[in-house]
Parts: sequence; structure tokens; C-alpha cells
Amino acid sequence: MDWYEWSETPEGEFAVIGDPVSHSLSPRMHSEAYAALGLSYRYRAVRVPVSEFEEAVDRLRSLGYWGLNVTVPLKETAYRSFPGGDPRQGAVNTINLRDDRATNTDAPGFMGTLRDLGVAPCKSLVLGAGGSARALVVALADAGFEVLLFNRTSARATALCEQVQVPVTVLENPDPAGCALIVNGTSAGLRKECPPVLWGRAEPGAVAYDLTYSGEETPFVRAAGEVGLRAVDGRRMLVDQGALSFEWWTGLPAPREAMLHAVL
Ligand code: NDP
Repeated sequence: MDWYEWSETPEGEFAVIGDPVSHSLSPRMHSEAYAALGLSYRYRAVRVPVSEFEEAVDRLRSLGYWGLNVTVPLKETAYRSFPGGDPRQGAVNTINLRDDRATNTDAPGFMGTLRDLGVAPCKSLVLGAGGSARALVVALADAGFEVLLFNRTSARATALCEQVQVPVTVLENPDPAGCALIVNGTSAGLRKECPPVLWGRAEPGAVAYDLTYSGEETPFVRAAGEVGLRAVDGRRMLVDQGALSFEWWTGLPAPREAMLHAVL
């Protein structure tokens, strides 16, 4: 079995919790890291509905789990129980249950991959207003990017702007005109959907970056490729944020090559 319901999860040390979670490559990636370093830790994918977050974490703690990665849609809920990282981001993706501390490795992981892609500060369009989009908006603005934001539910984008304390312009339409970077921070791809983008207004040569990944090309990557953009999915970010989580928990240098090999 690739994933567990939280009420049926066996003992272990590390897990990614979320809903859905069956698509996650984190168990494979972290297991490769443990194997590369001769560690005997177990890392599991555990489905936790948002309304059952606290009960689930209590059960995992009682089973010996101490390192949790948090994914869609739990990052903001997790922040309320385990505040950590940058308060402007209001979302965490990494928890240590031994000392009840938490942090967010999504933003530094994402920014690291942007540097690898050669993307310098520019005008950018971020799609989505959930936990991941919020962390990225702060990181992009701090790094000198101009940030435009579009979300399906516009009230949520407006609320995000009020929370993050960085300059963000909320758009009424997903218009990428003038943007050298388009970031899909929505979870639409998990349902094989593409968030709306006015692709015909995209700049030639822009980078289209989908945080989502799956076993196949994501709808956002496909749509961006069809209009000639340079498109990447979320696997490299998965490795970068996962390596930072690994190091934060264990104090050991993460075997990034082994982790990359596990997901590419
Ligand atoms: P949240 O549940 O917090 O937010 C989801 C966002 O997606 C909301 O803004 C929601 O809009 C929007 N959305 C969902 N479905 C659609 C749709 N069909 N069309 C348009 N918008 C939609 O999720 P997270 O922020 O935690 O995660 C977002 C995605 O990023 C996930 O797929 C996750 O797997 C991925 N991710 C990948 C990482 C990596 O390492 N590669 C790291 C972090 C995240 P609305 O407000 O209108 O509901």
C-alpha cells in the first residue's frame, strides 16, 4: 500500500500528511535518502482530512512519528497549531513533534529552483491563494519580484494580500502580459485540471512553473508548452524543499542526488 488513512497508519518516524496524498512522491524520495545514508527510518504518506488534523497528529505522535511534512490543504491549519517560520507566510510544511516546532521549506526550496532555472527578479503572476501560494508570494516579493496574484475565489486573494504585508496586485483576470514568470500555486492539477490563464497574452520566453507534479505531464505544463513557454513541474521543488526538511529534522546533509533520482 502506498498510503494510509491516519486511523490505520502503522508505526513509523516520518510522514507526509494531506488530502489527497496518494500522489505524493515524498515517501519514495525520503526512503531513497535514508537508504543512501544507511538509516532505518520509515516515511509514509497519510491521508488526513482538514477537520481531523489535531486527532490525526495526536495519533501519529503516539505511534512514534516525529517528523511530519504537511501538504495540501493542511498548511495553514498546521500553522495555527504549530506556528513557525515567517509569520507573514502563515503556513508551515515541516513539523518536528519532538519539540513541537515547525518551519516552512517550500519558499526557500522554490527560490532555489528559480535560481537554478536562471530566473532573475521580474514581473510575475502567481495563481492560487492557498498555503503554498502565500509562502511564495512573500518569498518572491522579498527577492525583488513584482507580484501579480489571481485566484479563482477572489476574496481569498484579497485576504492574502492583507495578510502578507508585501506589495501584491490582485488581478480580476489571469492575465500574464508582461510577466517573465507564471507560477501555478493552485491544486487544480491534482484533479487533472488547469487553472484559467489567458495564454494568448503570455510573453514569449516566459517560464511557466507548476508547483504540482504527477506521474504524467500536468495540464498546466501541457498548456504552457502548447504556446511555446518554458514549462517545469513541481518535482525539482519537491526535492529542494524535501532536502531542507530532511536537514532540519536530522541535522545531516541531505543526499540530494539520490532524492532527485527517486523522483525524476
Ligand atoms: P491549498 O489547498 O492551500 O490551496 C489550493 C489553491 O488552489 C486555492 O487557491 C484554490 O482556489 C486553488 N484551486 C484548487 N482547484 C482549482 C481549480 N480547479 N481551478 C483553479 N484554482 C483551483 O493548497 P496548497 O497551497 O498547499 O498546494 C497547492 C498545490 O501546490 C498542490 O497541488 C500541492 O501539491 C502543490 N505543492 C507542491 C510542492 C512541491 O514541492 N512541488 C510544495 C507545495 C505545494 P480557491 O481558493 O478558489 O479554492
